[in-house]
Amino acid sequence: MNEVRRLTALASHASVAGRDIGIAAVATVITAAMWLGGWLDPLDRAAGDIALRSTHRQPNDVPVAAVVIDDRSIAEIGPLPWPRGVIARLISAARSGGAAGIALDLLLIEPTDPYADAALAGALDDGPTILAAALDRDGGWLLPDPRFGGVRDAAHVHAEIGADGVARTISATKQADGLSLPAFSLAAARLIDPEIPIEPGVFLRPDFRPAPERVPRIAAADLLDAPRGGGQLAGRAVLIGVTATGSGDRLVVPTSPGPAPSPGVLVHASAAASILRGGLIHRQGPWAALLCVLVAAASPQVVRSRAGSLRPSALIIALVAIVLATLAALELWNLQLPAPAFAVAMIVSAALREGYESKRAQRESGRLLQSLLRHHGSEVEIGAPRSAVARLTALRRLQTVVLEQDAARRTLLEGMRDGVLMWNNQGDTAVVNPAATELWGREPRRPDIADLADQRGETFTVDRDGRDVEVSVFALGDGGMALLRDVTAERELERKRRDMQRLVSHELKTPLSSIAGFGETLERYELDPDEQRRVAALIRRESLRLGEMVATFLDLERLGSDRMSQPVGPVDLGELVAERLEILAESARARHQTITSNLRAGVVVRGSTELLARVIDNLVGNALKYSGNGSSVEVAVERDTDTANLVVRDHGPGIPDEARRHLFERFYRVPGTRESGSGLGLAVVNEVVEWHGGCIELDSTIGAGSTFTVLLPAED
Ligand code: ADP
Repeated sequence: MNEVRRLTALASHASVAGRDIGIAAVATVITAAMWLGGWLDPLDRAAGDIALRSTHRQPNDVPVAAVVIDDRSIAEIGPLPWPRGVIARLISAARSGGAAGIALDLLLIEPTDPYADAALAGALDDGPTILAAALDRDGGWLLPDPRFGGVRDAAHVHAEIGADGVARTISATKQADGLSLPAFSLAAARLIDPEIPIEPGVFLRPDFRPAPERVPRIAAADLLDAPRGGGQLAGRAVLIGVTATGSGDRLVVPTSPGPAPSPGVLVHASAAASILRGGLIHRQGPWAALLCVLVAAASPQVVRSRAGSLRPSALIIALVAIVLATLAALELWNLQLPAPAFAVAMIVSAALREGYESKRAQRESGRLLQSLLRHHGSEVEIGAPRSAVARLTALRRLQTVVLEQDAARRTLLEGMRDGVLMWNNQGDTAVVNPAATELWGREPRRPDIADLADQRGETFTVDRDGRDVEVSVFALGDGGMALLRDVTAERELERKRRDMQRLVSHELKTPLSSIAGFGETLERYELDPDEQRRVAALIRRESLRLGEMVATFLDLERLGSDRMSQPVGPVDLGELVAERLEILAESARARHQTITSNLRAGVVVRGSTELLARVIDNLVGNALKYSGNGSSVEVAVERDTDTANLVVRDHGPGIPDEARRHLFERFYRVPGTRESGSGLGLAVVNEVVEWHGGCIELDSTIGAGSTFTVLLPAED
C-alpha cells in the first residue's frame, strides 16, 4: 500500500509558487535584454505603425491650415525658387484671409533682390511668423536672414528618420552651434496656443493622421488668384510650404497612405494639428513597461500552475488580448504600448516553462519507471533511466514483467473455486473468472451484484439455482470487485447442527423427562397391578415415540445429504397403498374410523418402496390422527398424463392458510394442535417426494377437511 502511495505521489505535480516567479523573472530579463539590444525594434516599429494606422481618432476642427506650393501652382507661377515678391504676396494674402500666424517652410537664408526682400520682410513683420531653419551638412544651422527675422522666428524642420527611412518622431528642440531651436510643427502650434511647452530633449510623436485628409489646404496659385483664401484660413496657423513632386522636401511617415511619401509641409501641418489637439503619442515609461512585461511573463506561469497545462489556444487568446489592449490604449490615451515586448515576454515565459516541465517529466518518468519495475518485483535491477533509449529499455522490461504477472493472475483466477468479478469506474466488467460464471449461472455483471448490495449490504447470500452463493463486495480504486463463494454445504451443515440441537434440547427432553417421571412413580410408590401396567404402557409408548422420532430424524438427515442407499425400482403404487392401508386400518378401527380407497391398478412409479410407504403412512396417519373418532378418510391412486397421483382426503379440522408456508418444515406444528407429534412427518413426506422428482398439492378448508395430493412421475 505504501508503495502504491509513493507511486501516486511521484506521479502527482506539486505546484510551487517560487518556481513560477523565478521563470517569469528570467523571461522578463531575457525580454528586457532583447529590447535594449534593439532586437525588438523592427517588431516595435511595425506594431506601432499598425496601431497608428488602425486607430481612428476624429480630430476636432483643429485651427491649422496649409498653403501648398504644388505642381499646379508651379506650372502657373513658375519654377522654384519663387521670387521673394511672390512669397510676400502669398503671405499677405494669407494674413488678409485671417491667418492667426504664418509658418513658412521655405529657407530664406540669403538676400536676393533688395526691393522684393523688403516687401517680404514687411509681409512677415505684419503678424506672428515662424520661419524654417535647417541643419547644413556640417551640422551647423542654416538660419533665416536677419532681415526676415533671423533666429528670432526660426524653428527646425527636421524629423527623426528611423532605420527603415520612416519618420516617426520629431525632436521638440534641436541643438547646433550652441543654439537650440524648437520644432517647426511645435512652434506653429504655439502660434495658436502659446501655453504648449517647449521641453528640450523631448521627442514629439505626432500621429501624423490629420494630414493630408483633414487639414484644410489651399494651393498657392489659388490663394494668389483669390486673396483671403475663401475664408478657409481665418483664425488658423497657416503653414506654407512645398508639396510639388521633385522638390525633395518629402518625408515618409508611418501613416503615409500607401508607398507614396506625404508631401513635406503637410507632415508639419499634420504634426502641428496633432500637438494642438493634445494628440501626441506617448510611450510607456521604461519602468512601467518593464512591470507590464513582468506581468505578461507571469501570466503563463499562473495559468500553467492553476490549469496544469498551457494550451496553444490560451496563448493565442492572450496575444490577441495584448493587441487589443495596445489599440485601446492608443485610442483612449494616445499611449503606444510596447506590445511586441509583452508578447515576447509571454512566449518566452511559456517556452521556458514547457521546457522546464518536459525536463522534469523526463526525469520523473525515469524514476517512476524504476519504481514501477521495483513494485512489480522485477529481479533485474535498473537505475533511474536518464536517456530516451534507457527509458525505452525500462519500458520494455516493465511490459514483460507486467505481461508475465498478468498471465499468472489469469491462471490463478481461472483455477480458483471462488468467483471473482471486477469492474472499472465506468461499471464495465474488467475481470470475471469461470468460477463466477459457473456460480452465477451466467456471466455476472456489476449491476446484478450492485443492485443486490444496495438492498442487502456489502455481504449477502443469494440463491442461484438451488445453491447458496455468498457475495462480498469491495471498492477497488475507482471501480470495485465482488467475491462469490458457494456456501451451500456450509449452510446445510449449519442447519443440521441447529436441527440436531433442537431435537436434543426440545423434542427429546420432554418425553425423556416424562419417562423418567413414570419410572420414578414405579420406583417410589406401591401401585396396584393395573396401575403398574398402565404406567409401564405409558413408558413403552413414550419410548417408542422417542425411538420413532429419532429414526425419522436420522432418515431425514440421510435423505437430505442424498446418501440414502435405498434400492430403487418400479413400484406399483396401488398395490403399495393397499398393503399399507391394511396395517393402518388397525388403528382406524380402534377409533371407529373408516378408510375407503379407490386404487387404480397398474399405476407404476420408479422409486423406493420403503420410502414411499413412509409417505403413505404419514399422510394417511395424519388424516386419521387429526380427524377425530368416527370420521372417514378416502385414499385414491390415479393416473394422469405423466403423473401417478396419490390422493388422501380427510374431513378433519383443515389447515389454516397461514400455516401452509411452514407445513413441510422440520419440527413445524400448526399452533394449537392438541394431538401429540414431532412435526417431522410432513418434512419426511416432502423430502421423499422431492427425492422421487415429484411434488405435493394441498387443498384444505377449515372445518371441512384437507386433501393432500402427491404427484409422482409415472412409469410407462
Ligand atoms: P406431526 O403430525 O407429528 O405433528 P407433521 O409434520 O406430520 O407432524 O404435521 C405437521 C402439522 O401439520 C401437524 O402438527 C398438524 O398440526 C398439521 N397437520 C398435518 N396433517 C394434517 C391433517 N390431515 N389435518 C389437519 N392438520 C394436519
